[in-house]
Amino acid sequence: MGGAHLQQPEPVRKIIHVDMDAFYASVEQRDNPDLRGKPVAVGGGEVRGVVAAASYEARKFGVHSAMASVTAKRKCPDLVFVKPRFEVYKAISQQIRQIFADYTPLIEPLSLDEAYLDVTENLKGIELATEIAEEIRARIKQTTGLTASAGVSYNKFLAKMASDQRKPDGLFVITPKNGPAFVEALPVKKFHGVGPATAEKMHRLGIETGTDLKAKPLPFLQQHFGKSGPYFWGIARGIDNRQVKPDRVRKSVGAEDTFRADIHLLEEALDNIDPLIDKVWRYCEGNGIRGRTVTVKIKFADFKQITRSRSTAMAIGSAEEVRDLCRMILLEQFPVEKGVRLLGVTLSSLEAGQPRQVQQFVLEL
Ligand SMILES: [Mg+2]
Repeated sequence: MGGAHLQQPEPVRKIIHVDMDAFYASVEQRDNPDLRGKPVAVGGGEVRGVVAAASYEARKFGVHSAMASVTAKRKCPDLVFVKPRFEVYKAISQQIRQIFADYTPLIEPLSLDEAYLDVTENLKGIELATEIAEEIRARIKQTTGLTASAGVSYNKFLAKMASDQRKPDGLFVITPKNGPAFVEALPVKKFHGVGPATAEKMHRLGIETGTDLKAKPLPFLQQHFGKSGPYFWGIARGIDNRQVKPDRVRKSVGAEDTFRADIHLLEEALDNIDPLIDKVWRYCEGNGIRGRTVTVKIKFADFKQITRSRSTAMAIGSAEEVRDLCRMILLEQFPVEKGVRLLGVTLSSLEAGQPRQVQQFVLEL
């Protein structure tokens, strides 16, 4: 017997991931009977608009969130666009968080409509996490008239994967016994934490499923995916030791990337900053937050770094505006004397999201 076997085993955690079904779209259908049974997209109907959420009727046509409105309309000509009402979504989000709080203080929201709960030690002394998940789903339905799906498992990654399995209005459990096999069968592009760019990179490396990922040694994953390497190595085995971190007030939302080869041209910088802008914007949209200040961080080949900011008078209303501000900042910095090894984008001066039209209206008075 090796020494490792003598260590005290960690107690198995009980994690629930709760996810409202087609949240914004379901709220709109709840509040407007005319929209029920119809393909609905919440979001901008304008030329550059993007779908923030799609009803299940719309999803049948291939419409999904983050899709350009024009594309969505082409896929589904009968699609009804509805303006988002973030104040309503936030109020409902508060209602569901109050329900969660009856069971545990360990609540980590991912967005307005999703949260992780650690119920290992829960306030009601309920033994089975599945029972808690069913109670929560029933209470959400009763309180809000909306359905939620839940995933129950022994870590965050698997709980998140599980909640997607029986959508809408479903529950799925992944036990320690069937966790590893569940991951092996899953396509990596479905993994939480594997975005489109990473999925594409994995595809090029011949990694399509959990089984493929598991076959790659840790040094290989670190070499190709940097600090995400150990995370990928773990989840391929159904291991994820990340704790459920209770909500904290965010002061800024940022993303950055270190490049494999240093960047010298403005065009390269613009290309490489794009995905970072999208990441930051998606987070802000998903959480109903708006910011007024964009900061770009540039780290040079010699590890010296600078940050430059631009602020707007009104909350920034689109990814395009963030892009414009980043572009202005980068234009001032290029051409560069030294190569750029890292770029970062941060949105700060955050506030709760408000419909932009209202703000403009007020200013025009
Ligand atoms: Mg959802």
